[in-house]
Amino acid sequence: MMSQLKLVGKKAEQSVFDLAGLVIGGKEIVLMGGPCAVESREQMIAAAETVRHSGGKVLRGGVFKPRTSPYSFQGLGEKGIDYLVQAAKDNNLMSVTEVIDTESLKLVQDKVDIIQIGARNMQNFQLLIEVGKVNKPVILKRGLAATVEEWLLAAEYILASGNPHVILCERGIRTYEPSTRNTLDLSAVVVAKQLSHLPVIVDPSHAAGRTDLIPALAKAAIAAGADGLLIETHPNPAEAKSDGGQSLTLEQFWQLATELVKVAESVGRTFAGPVKVQESLQSLRAEIDAVDADIVGLLAKRMKVVNKVAEHKTIDRIKDANREREVVERLSRLAQSLQCPPDLVKEIYNIVFDYGVKSQLHSKITVEGNVSEILR
Ligand code: PEP
Ligand code: MN
Repeated sequence: MMSQLKLVGKKAEQSVFDLAGLVIGGKEIVLMGGPCAVESREQMIAAAETVRHSGGKVLRGGVFKPRTSPYSFQGLGEKGIDYLVQAAKDNNLMSVTEVIDTESLKLVQDKVDIIQIGARNMQNFQLLIEVGKVNKPVILKRGLAATVEEWLLAAEYILASGNPHVILCERGIRTYEPSTRNTLDLSAVVVAKQLSHLPVIVDPSHAAGRTDLIPALAKAAIAAGADGLLIETHPNPAEAKSDGGQSLTLEQFWQLATELVKVAESVGRTFAGPVKVQESLQSLRAEIDAVDADIVGLLAKRMKVVNKVAEHKTIDRIKDANREREVVERLSRLAQSLQCPPDLVKEIYNIVFDYGVKSQLHSKITVEGNVSEILR
């Protein structure tokens, strides 16, 4: 069967594609990122900026979504292409989107830079032949249940139809393991590289189905010899219309990019990583996110103590205006000395006190029963 890999099969040298400035298959790792589905112009701009700041080269975003359920969001279609392409152009990135049939291929082929064939269409031979006639590079995802051989033969269809620029993408296969959406098959990266000269990238997002695993899998993929990564990232994963549970926040994407630099170096590859603009917007935002997380952590700690205090108060003594005034004055002086506006502290503490009082009242009511009974 391997003799059938006339065009895809191993050659003396691995193929290095120079796709209008994007070099893939060489020493440098290529980072691609973006949301699962294009949802809005703003979303694509935010994602594109992050991909660029992170040292990424390609912006992804699905506009025709081959969803497992017919009732899930199916994508924005043509309108989405414009958001994807414009955001990519404005950030000097290439764009990639998935096509699901010849009709969607016709709609995008002159607009996007790279065409993606999804896992569910890996053996849609008619579509493979059609993308083979297009003069755009193709990312060919491995099918959910396809062997490496079937995957390479699918690539062979594209090359045999005249398009030499196929990038193979391992995205996890279905196994009996339920803790992940699919199982990332890193051996397939090594095997595909042994059998073929084509570049191989890894999509850890669809393999894991969980954000918490993405950094480890992405690093492992680079260590295993992948030429690039395709990772889902979304400005607000909790509200994402598709694959939010596996999408990194923009900050997490950027953070991962910083960590990939050393991983690439350790295996003789290069990855420039985040652009070193001094205090780039992204790094400042990452810093703010860390501070905000600390603030919320401290607020949670404060609320716990506040609720304990309730045990030492009778219900008519819960609000203590004198104590509040004293605290605010002290904190305003502290703020002043730290060059933080005292008014900001005053305003915040009014809200904090109100919540404290409400929460103490609530715990009195639930612990000690009906208020009116207590007051009687
Ligand atoms: C995708 O990239 O959003 C996607 C649908 O991936 P896959 O085809 O690998 O499931
Ligand atoms: Mn997806």
